Amino acid sequence: MLQFKPIFLGQAPRQVPRATTSQKCIRTNDIENVGRTARHHTFFEMLGNFSFGDYFKKDAIKWAWELATEEFKLPIDRLWVSIFQDDDEAFTLWRDEAGVQENRILRMGEEDNFWSSGSTGPCGPCSELYYDFYPERGTENVDLGDDSRFIEFYNLVFMQYNRKEDGALEPLRNKNIDTGLGLERLAQILQKVPNNYETDLIYPIMEYAANLAGLTYRDASENSKTYLKVIGDHSRAVVYLISDGVTPSNIGRGYIVRRLIRRVVRMGRLLGIKGDGQGDIDGAFLPAIAKVVIDMSSNVDPDVQTNSSRIFTELHKEEIRFVQTLERGEKLLEQLLQDALAQAIQPNSSQAVLSGKDVFMLYDTFGFPIEITEEVAAERGVSIDRKGFEAEMEVQRQQSQAAHNTVKLYADGALGDISSKVPLTEFLGYSTLQSSSNIV
Ligand code: ATP
Ligand code: MG
Ligand code: MG
Ligand code: MG
Repeated sequence: MLQFKPIFLGQAPRQVPRATTSQKCIRTNDIENVGRTARHHTFFEMLGNFSFGDYFKKDAIKWAWELATEEFKLPIDRLWVSIFQDDDEAFTLWRDEAGVQENRILRMGEEDNFWSSGSTGPCGPCSELYYDFYPERGTENVDLGDDSRFIEFYNLVFMQYNRKEDGALEPLRNKNIDTGLGLERLAQILQKVPNNYETDLIYPIMEYAANLAGLTYRDASENSKTYLKVIGDHSRAVVYLISDGVTPSNIGRGYIVRRLIRRVVRMGRLLGIKGDGQGDIDGAFLPAIAKVVIDMSSNVDPDVQTNSSRIFTELHKEEIRFVQTLERGEKLLEQLLQDALAQAIQPNSSQAVLSGKDVFMLYDTFGFPIEITEEVAAERGVSIDRKGFEAEMEVQRQQSQAAHNTVKLYADGALGDISSKVPLTEFLGYSTLQSSSNIV
């Protein structure tokens, strides 16, 4: 919705009073959830309806209910509503306009039910629709956060404030509506499958990957199913990201693609995938999986088909590069294991252990997942220092946090200061070059 921000704030004229959208979304904050919860992806499609100073809370609520119960035909006794704790108006509208029973409208706190993007800007209370997979568990002591029972599928934001620098909420002149409905979640509900991954949006990708590993999804172990889910999710993400022009690199958006690709390759190796089954000379399997994704999406998203050869090339290149890194790491790991074993047979030394520092180096420099290190080490009778590894991870996390803060400080303060003091400079680059040997 960020492109709509100036319209919400009344800073840009609205072209239309209402809109509906289907947005491709990437959410890296959910990366650890992928394959572990039934409902989170890094890539998903969000359907939405928007009002720019046109209809507001009453109609948004009435129509959301109508969409859920009349169009999607979801049974009323499976639907629950959350509202922001102070939003009595929303409570009354759900009850009187939509006809929802009072005990099915639950008040929740700011974290879940007050939407904003950053510390200032347009914001407002939200209201969410939840689907109940187990209505037989009754209506007492219901916790909508219990994701073994409920799934949030539709989120309505009543964009009615602008949060100022000092934190104060200033009512917007135009009241707006911004909603989001997850296509994969709705598909799970309507197709009556146990999670988003087993819908027709993702299942064929997992089945294809399972096949390459000599498995079938249904008979796979829980661990293998998780790896297959990660492959199913991330391969969609990278196909769409590359199609939209993001290429693997070490910074910014490029790093996100790189990280996702590496995770797919790692999961493939954990599953024992050895190639694409079609004789790719380098043993790469990602392009073949990408082809499944592209074929599935081409009638709704022709761009992906148009960009397919670029997608295959990028994936192939990146996969090979990563596998080479992994193989170098394997050699180093072998050396470290031999050292650990040699030390263990010295007098007074206990069982052979790989230090947290070494496990972290393998992870950080060679992209070696801790599970692989642990597994290979265990085969040789060496254990790993998990606590030490986690301590190293924490140090890195804090360092990147600190780096992040530094950048922010500069952008907000120092750069602004400098730009007001330094006079305009003339750009000479069109006619003069300092030294041609500097040009790479
Ligand atoms: P949750 O609480 O389950 O993490 P959310 O409140 O973070 O979801 P919103 O920001 O409200 O999600 O996004 C609007 C809708 O988009 C959600 O109701 C859901 O249907 C869908 N959605 C959000 N995040 C994801 C995700 N990671 N994967 C799939 N669908 C998602
Ligand atoms: Mg979330
Ligand atoms: Mg939520
Ligand atoms: Mg939400």
